[in-house]
Amino acid sequence: MAPPTRRQPATHSTINPLPRFFAKHFADGVVIQAETLGCWRAVRIHCPAMHRLNYAPGQHVRIEIRDPFSLYGILRPVETMRTYTIWDWDRQALAFELRAHLYRSDGDGIGLNWMREVRGGDRVRFWGPQGNFLVGSAPRHLFVGDETASVAFGPMLRAVGADEESIAIVEAENPDAMLPLTVTNGELRRVYRLGASPVASTRLLEAVANAGVAAHNTLAYVAGEAKTCQIVRRHLIAEGWEPTRIQVKPFWAPGKRGLH
Ligand SMILES: Cc1cc2nc3c(=O)[nH]c(=O)nc-3n(C[C@H](O)[C@H](O)[C@H](O)COP(=O)(O)OP(=O)(O)OC[C@H]3O[C@@H](n4cnc5c(N)ncnc54)[C@H](O)[C@@H]3O)c2cc1C
Repeated sequence: MAPPTRRQPATHSTINPLPRFFAKHFADGVVIQAETLGCWRAVRIHCPAMHRLNYAPGQHVRIEIRDPFSLYGILRPVETMRTYTIWDWDRQALAFELRAHLYRSDGDGIGLNWMREVRGGDRVRFWGPQGNFLVGSAPRHLFVGDETASVAFGPMLRAVGADEESIAIVEAENPDAMLPLTVTNGELRRVYRLGASPVASTRLLEAVANAGVAAHNTLAYVAGEAKTCQIVRRHLIAEGWEPTRIQVKPFWAPGKRGLH
């Protein structure tokens, strides 16, 4: 079965009762800005219903790229939605911004295609905000991850308490691929792959080992490529971290589609 044509916003059939049943979980918006910034796409969405939505820094939305309630969507649910963290939530302006990493110029993922093609004026349906990758309360916070994870780290770092310290260890392909992150009280360590694989990244692991952040009084947030998350978590536990003080959120994995 052919998928619905691209750049067409997901529209639900009026005779299908499922959308009405799930209506409280999604909202509609309009893209008011979409620009390419190097290997990033910044997409700003205006949503009149935002005043009734709850949001916490670190949460994401699931963009409905194809109608999940259509026959196509029911048969191929993995090819309907993609997950993007909210980079900026502006309740006053009733608008929020996503940052998508354009991870391959020749990739054919539905998320990658949607992000490349979306334009101002396009309608968007999204599910959420949702997710439990959130900043806790502790004297110190350790953030570890790649480009995709850095989208979550931006708002999470801004949410860290003024008297709490943050250490962010963030990997990107090169300096141009690094999102602007601000650490108010603490340190930002940047790691560049420069052609090395982002999968099970030994560079990021080495950077974490070199940073030698003490487990005591610290909460860790590890996100990004699934195998890198695993090896970083294993390293921290070997260093004496309590597993319960490490939040891990794999954002993608090679060969897996729509990891969520
Ligand atoms: C909670 C959560 C929050 C996320 N937030 C963001 C965000 O804010 N910004 C963002 O850019 N991404 C984010 N992601 C990751 C994003 O959802 C995935 O990259 C998604 O798989 C992209 O969809 P796609 O259709 O392009 O590729 P898919 O169809 O899902 O995957 C196709 C193939 O492309 C490759 N691939 C997928 N993603 C990547 C990648 N990032 N890098 C390298 N190769 C990849 C894999 O080999 C995969 O098999 C998040 C994921 C989760 C779970």
